[in-house]
Amino acid sequence: MIITDTHTHLYSEAFEQDQKAMMQRALDTGVKRFFIPAIDSSYTQAMLDLESNYPENVFLMMGLHPTHVKENYKEELSLVEEWLSKRKFYAVGEIGVDLYWDRTFLKQQQEAFVYQIRLAKKYQLPIVIHCRDAFDEIFAVLEQEKGEDLFGIFHCFTGTLEQAHKALSYNMKLGIGGVVTFKNGKIDQFLDQIDLKHIVLETDSPYLAPTPYRGKRNESAYISNVLKKLSSIYNVFEEEIAAVTTENSKEVFGI
Ligand SMILES: [Zn+2]
Repeated sequence: MIITDTHTHLYSEAFEQDQKAMMQRALDTGVKRFFIPAIDSSYTQAMLDLESNYPENVFLMMGLHPTHVKENYKEELSLVEEWLSKRKFYAVGEIGVDLYWDRTFLKQQQEAFVYQIRLAKKYQLPIVIHCRDAFDEIFAVLEQEKGEDLFGIFHCFTGTLEQAHKALSYNMKLGIGGVVTFKNGKIDQFLDQIDLKHIVLETDSPYLAPTPYRGKRNESAYISNVLKKLSSIYNVFEEEIAAVTTENSKEVFGI
């Protein structure tokens, strides 16, 4: 069984002490493909190191995370652009709008989102969207930018069925992780109405650990709990969920 974790911050400080053991646990669970979202330039070196340690398994994205859009966002965006012109990345992400923590930079977040979508189009790459308390703002941008050259993943999807259909209409797959195992996570109520071909798996490690690890540090090996939950929602074997969602991830990332 090959499982694909489409969103995992393996380079995080949270894994400083045991990164190797943590990676081994994931590989032993069957997670063979790890897609690594960027945050800002302070993490780039750690991402490159991770890739050189696991060249067969690790695939990097490039981008500026919305919660890291600050006074210096223009410099950060030019670094994103420079990296994209220099070497291969598999997506522009994670990008989007986050109004949960702070609304101060809303305008700049929207500007950075649009700017990075256009970079993705230029390099024919998918985007990986981070959306928190910002569905209206995100959909407004997608409506403006939609087209055949816009596609990707709505990471950590937590919206309603209606919002799910809307995301799909913009060529997005839904990134499903720990939230689907939460008692009050809500998406488990309607996910069976969304065809499995639109779903990819993720952990968002070290955040959003699935039940029974909720509140603890998350790691890619815990994706097995997400797999188990989806198997019961869709009433198909875990092996099939792993196979279909891995195929879906290949369709998005081109590898
Ligand atoms: Zn993330």
